[in-house]
Amino acid sequence: MRLALFDDLRLGVVSTGGDTIKDVTGSLPWAHETDTLAAGWWRRLCRDFEELRPCIEAELRVVPPLAIETVTLRAPVLNPGKVVATASNYAAHVTEMRDEVLDRVAGRVDDWLLDFDVFLKAPTSIIGPADAIVLPATPLREGKEIHHESELTLVIGRGGRDIPVEEALDHVLGYTIGLDMTVRGNGDRSRRKSYDTFTPIGPWIVTADEVGDPGSLDVALDVGREARQRASTADLLVDVPGIVAYASSVMTLEPGDVVLTGAPPGVGEVAAGETLHASISRIGAMDVRVLAPAADAT
Ligand code: MN
Repeated sequence: MRLALFDDLRLGVVSTGGDTIKDVTGSLPWAHETDTLAAGWWRRLCRDFEELRPCIEAELRVVPPLAIETVTLRAPVLNPGKVVATASNYAAHVTEMRDEVLDRVAGRVDDWLLDFDVFLKAPTSIIGPADAIVLPATPLREGKEIHHESELTLVIGRGGRDIPVEEALDHVLGYTIGLDMTVRGNGDRSRRKSYDTFTPIGPWIVTADEVGDPGSLDVALDVGREARQRASTADLLVDVPGIVAYASSVMTLEPGDVVLTGAPPGVGEVAAGETLHASISRIGAMDVRVLAPAADAT
């Protein structure tokens, strides 16, 4: 099932072809809140999705499909308690960082930056498919490079801590596309990746049962017509169950939390005026525009 949030945080189910959406908000057994601060209904949905699924399926049989282009898709996550991101999780990305990028942007190689680990991004950096990345003024003025990273992203269903690897996929509600926008250079990683608009997520969540094995997905990112990132999640150094298990050994994962699985090779600079086209097989695709800092826009 393809779960989406659209318009005024309506709950939608997108058709397999991605061309229509049905409003299933009426299937929720709780009050539907349109205030983004009242995210409890969404987090309950993430936690209790399997119990809700029959209600949603019943609603699907009675509500009309809407053409997807007539609605505005929002990020398919709502005020997550945290956004966990994964560092150094494809060997070829570690190599490009060590041999090229870090030398250029930081003047040296920080060994710890090349180790697999998890870190946090500010949830306020999330935007949806209808929004645009707004480049932050200060890093640009300082001549910093701002990079795209396109990553398989998962949304936690049932939470937990110290989740065993063999049970990890039972805690995944589904998968979506996440961009981990990054200011390259020295300085705290969480700060460099937490500017407003630096975590585009979308266009919807494909539930785990429909995706199947998360270790056999093709991840791609184009900038304009130029292919930048091409990877298979088969090449993740630590696979999805391993990431969930490791992250949950550090911090309790809660329903609705977002986990990015790490950048494939091919990261590179973005500039105002460009459009990023991100896609992942069995999930979908989304275009995200890049805008100049608000003060510079004319
Ligand atoms: Mn990343």
